[in-house]
Amino acid sequence: MTSRIYYTDPYCRRFEASVIKTLVHDGRPAALLDRTAFYPTSGGQPFDMGKFFEADRVDGERRGPFGSAIDVLETIDLDDDVVHVLSAAVIEGASVRGEIDWTRRFDHMQQHTGQHILSAAFDRLFENRTVSFHMGSDVSSIDLQREASWEHIARAEGEANRIISENREVAIRFVTSEHAAVLPLRKEPSREGTLRLIDVKDFDLSACGGTHVARTGEIGSLVVTAAEKFKGGARVTFACGARAVRAFQSLRDTVSGSVRLLSVLPRELPSAIERMQAEAKDLRRTLRGFQEALAAHEAARLIAASDVGSGPAVVIVGALDAWDANGLKAIATHIVGQANAAVALFSTAPPHPVVIARSPGMSLDVTAVLRELVASFGGRGGGKADLAQGGGLVGNLSDIMRAARQLLERGPLSLS
Ligand SMILES: [Zn+2]
Repeated sequence: MTSRIYYTDPYCRRFEASVIKTLVHDGRPAALLDRTAFYPTSGGQPFDMGKFFEADRVDGERRGPFGSAIDVLETIDLDDDVVHVLSAAVIEGASVRGEIDWTRRFDHMQQHTGQHILSAAFDRLFENRTVSFHMGSDVSSIDLQREASWEHIARAEGEANRIISENREVAIRFVTSEHAAVLPLRKEPSREGTLRLIDVKDFDLSACGGTHVARTGEIGSLVVTAAEKFKGGARVTFACGARAVRAFQSLRDTVSGSVRLLSVLPRELPSAIERMQAEAKDLRRTLRGFQEALAAHEAARLIAASDVGSGPAVVIVGALDAWDANGLKAIATHIVGQANAAVALFSTAPPHPVVIARSPGMSLDVTAVLRELVASFGGRGGGKADLAQGGGLVGNLSDIMRAARQLLERGPLSLS
């Protein structure tokens, strides 16, 4: 059973201990110590990382200096023990000095204590209870039992920051579960025996095994970065300390970049975007009208340039500038509606899109033509017997067009 230093002294970042057992965890060397300050992943809080320095031990006494650093890559809670996963093996019975990555750990302490206070604020103000907590590498989140409006979220956020700025004491207390039953705990404890309580002075009392700051002022500040509906309740994402500053900086960079592009003030952003969306919608409608008119015009031009009327059907193969697949489709549809024709239209921009169509009543299957073109020139596509669409054809466009003409002329063009 590992003695956990962080239970009573979460600020201990350097300690000496004995290696009581070595083992292999997922193919990596690992060790159990008689005591540790390393926190293993538990209760929503991620594990500590850091370093071990090993020294020989003779007759229970440390002999000689501590050696070079071994990385502690991960710390895992295993029953009553804490497993330290290492970059290199240590010797059973040796002495180690452990040093935890304090930047990482202190950040976790800030987020975790911030979570207690934010959860308590939702609970006290709106009787909206926290059902779970997750700490990520950038932001953390709590899941609330019920939905939360932005007005409620802003008030809970404000209340949490009031408690933070009052720099209240955060005490660690150990009580029996019988004693805990008569205390005003925010959440019913799930375990028996001795309970570890985290007491944010006159604000929150919760059973928790994690690491917390000693005074609320150390959290710095707490910001809610996002909220969404989640499993009938709400997921509220937040950040404390340096993370809160980073979240603000990222938001500021995004907003200042956007307002520079749009030449508006930050508070005018939503209405500016709304205006742009409305304008874009109008433009799209106008553009569709022009494209339709131009497609009819292009179709008439292609029909006039080909020898329509002499045979039962005519083959039209064309290359067009500045038309996308939808435009080519509109032109092809006009052609096969007005002339008895089989048509293949390409865009001149490589890799070339293509639309192949034929007039109603012909037995020619244009998907077969497209398949053969794709087999020779690459790309992909598909469609129906009278209209097929493809893209990504690569090669000399005149060669591709010649091949398309041959395939269409070879096909059964007569009216069925
Ligand atoms: Zn906690």
